[in-house]
Amino acid sequence: MKIAIIGGGLAGCALAWTLRQIGQEPVVYEAGPELANGASGNASGLYNPRFSALRGPDANFYAAAYSLALRSFKMFDGIDWCPTGVLHLMDTEKKEIRFHKTVTNWHWTPAHMRIVSSDEASRIAGVGLQYDALYLPDGGSVAPKKLCAAYMRDIDYRLNTSVENLEDVDADIIVLACGSAVLKFVPNLPIIPVRGQVTQVKATQLSENIKCSICYEGYFMPAKNGIHTLGATFQPDLNHSNIIKQDDQENIQKLGEAIPGLEAGLEVVEQRASIRATSRDRFPIIGPAPGQENVYVSAAHGSYGVLSSLMGAHLLADMIMDRPRCLPVDVIAALSPQRFKKRA
Ligand SMILES: Cc1cc2nc3c(=O)[nH]c(=O)nc-3n(C[C@H](O)[C@H](O)[C@H](O)COP(=O)(O)OP(=O)(O)OC[C@H]3O[C@@H](n4cnc5c(N)ncnc54)[C@H](O)[C@@H]3O)c2cc1C
Repeated sequence: MKIAIIGGGLAGCALAWTLRQIGQEPVVYEAGPELANGASGNASGLYNPRFSALRGPDANFYAAAYSLALRSFKMFDGIDWCPTGVLHLMDTEKKEIRFHKTVTNWHWTPAHMRIVSSDEASRIAGVGLQYDALYLPDGGSVAPKKLCAAYMRDIDYRLNTSVENLEDVDADIIVLACGSAVLKFVPNLPIIPVRGQVTQVKATQLSENIKCSICYEGYFMPAKNGIHTLGATFQPDLNHSNIIKQDDQENIQKLGEAIPGLEAGLEVVEQRASIRATSRDRFPIIGPAPGQENVYVSAAHGSYGVLSSLMGAHLLADMIMDRPRCLPVDVIAALSPQRFKKRA
């Protein structure tokens, strides 16, 4: 079977890897001069389930994706996998209510998910924290760009190849994994481009003690080679990836609001901006493209693409190869591109 994947970011590369594992030889077409040319090109990214209060289809998707990622990352070298643990600060009342419900409804053992007091959170983090937190000891970060390279080790791909017309693609099956450019081929999907910028800063005497990633209205990662990554801005109204200096200040300011004092003396060394695609209901769009035979979509991975791209790849591989599905029907329906169709 000839399978063409349009887009060489996390969604396209994860799918190519998954298909290769079951004996297929997909070809990836990437518009840019390198893989991970878009949102997937960040040097560090958290792998984080999106926590909902109830264990509904969205929670089932992200919980399965998290568990799959923990098994899969073990197979790769050179992806900067740092399972340092992640603390999600309960810095608003809403989060406090939601995270307590998450712990109750997800039924993970305390070894994998638990609420910790601000004192315990401070001990885990290696810095004083003023909020209680939801703690995921297996959480952490990877390098999305390196993960794409690892997924693609034995895969055929064409760079500088922007697909404009699906009829020009020589394939039995086409998968659209090209972020918001999916709209070129399936114009009616509610995909929204959202600009974001991550900032890298030099560690200070205080910050170099931090041992795990910390999430608040932004996120802060422990130093690697003396550099922390913090992020990320979220601008649905912007569709460009030029650097905005003010965004670095915004990232640092959010850190200072959550962990006062930690922002002091942080020197910006680098930043990267890109566009993530999200959907109207903020859930990925994965499945057969409406009205087009043998065309599939994997897009709108939003701010959780490290996990959702991999789980989505396994689901699409099942669909393409017509195998038993790895996810329950309600999750498949919640991800389906058909879900936005207006009911008569
Ligand atoms: C600032 C920022 C911080 C983030 N932090 C995190 C994080 O910590 N953890 C996390 O899980 N997620 C994070 N995300 C989200 C994550 O990066 C995305 O969800 C993920 O990268 C999406 O992958 P993708 O493959 O769908 O899209 P992309 O990576 O954008 O890939 C799409 C690819 O398609 C190519 N393309 C476009 N049109 C065509 C065409 N016509 N023909 C061929 N190729 C084409 C593009 O060049 C691009 O390389 C972050 C996003 C941003 C912007």
